[in-house]
Amino acid sequence: MKVAIIGAGVSGLTAAQHLTTRGFKVEVFEKSRGLGGRLATKRLDWAHMDTGAQYFTARDPRFVQAVKNWQQAGVVEPWPFTPYSISADGALLPSPDQTLRYVGVPGMNNLAHALADNLTVHRNQCISQLVRNKGRWKLVSDSGDQFTDYDWVIVSAPAEQSRVLLNGHTPIAEQISSELLEPCLALVIATTGPVPKAVQGIFGDSTVGWVSRLSAKPQRTKDVAYDDLWLLHFSSQWSADYDPIAAEDIVPTGLEWLQHAIDTLPNQNQQKPLKLVNHCQHYWRFARMAKNAQQPPTLIDKTNHLAAIGDWSHGGRIEGAYLSALHLVDTAF
Ligand SMILES: Cc1cc2nc3c(=O)[nH]c(=O)nc-3n(C[C@H](O)[C@H](O)[C@H](O)COP(=O)(O)OP(=O)(O)OC[C@H]3O[C@@H](n4cnc5c(N)ncnc54)[C@H](O)[C@@H]3O)c2cc1C
Repeated sequence: MKVAIIGAGVSGLTAAQHLTTRGFKVEVFEKSRGLGGRLATKRLDWAHMDTGAQYFTARDPRFVQAVKNWQQAGVVEPWPFTPYSISADGALLPSPDQTLRYVGVPGMNNLAHALADNLTVHRNQCISQLVRNKGRWKLVSDSGDQFTDYDWVIVSAPAEQSRVLLNGHTPIAEQISSELLEPCLALVIATTGPVPKAVQGIFGDSTVGWVSRLSAKPQRTKDVAYDDLWLLHFSSQWSADYDPIAAEDIVPTGLEWLQHAIDTLPNQNQQKPLKLVNHCQHYWRFARMAKNAQQPPTLIDKTNHLAAIGDWSHGGRIEGAYLSALHLVDTAF
């Protein structure tokens, strides 16, 4: 049986791996040049930077086991640190928790590369149309390429994009809400200037929701031109209000926010201010699940041999993406 999987993020690649192990002939189609989807590491000449998911946690025993295997294979490592958070009066304070956090090494999307090992992945193929012909599926890409004779098609794109692709072919399309995933504006800044080593991750406020000190993650290399590399994820609301077309300069906003937070640390305001060395930004139109999002029921159409998977169908996050794939493989194949 031949299966086409649209999307080479965690969910698509996990489904592909498990189906291949079970003896199915699988092909993955990815619209980007890179693998991993929102598990993204951008590689520029001055830095390698994770711009999407910053770390992941593991709770379900099946995912815990997978993480152990990846650790043994040297693909992921724990990122141990005490997070900081912004208190009600705006001060940056340690906020200890028991959460075990993991990252891909040396970049988040190295996990995707490991998942894609031995798989057939057609990169730079944005699938824009599905066509049913004599009980089998044909995929058409936006450049006009055609891929034929699939028994099953699994769509693993973010919710809104999956709905558009499946629309008119299956009733499951109607169960996918367009409001499941919220946007996120990501800003990476390289800085010089002293910041206490303990500050590695910050739960922020209504402007910047999360900060990672990327240069403190395990196995990251750093250019000598700067002391630190920071990733700021602007909050969902702030990102939704931001107009990517007008492209307002967010660098001063982000740098000021970080400087202000650091200045509230003991003895820090006597230090030299952070100096910007370089920066880069990325707008995620579909980033994370909205807090009160209504998760759709299982999205498997056994009559038409179509299914939709992804973090948004399993509670969000990398763990959800992984589990959505396992659930599909166990239920439908
Ligand atoms: C800013 C941000 C912060 C996050 N923080 C965390 C975090 O801290 N912890 C955590 O666990 N998770 C976090 N996440 C969420 C995590 O990244 C996702 O849950 C997970 O990566 C989703 O995997 P997926 O396979 O479901 O979807 P995706 O990773 O979105 O993969 C879908 C793939 O489909 C491709 N695609 C889409 N349409 C087509 C098409 N028509 N043809 C071909 N290919 C197509 C896309 O290019 C993409 O590669 C974050 C995400 C973002 C963006």
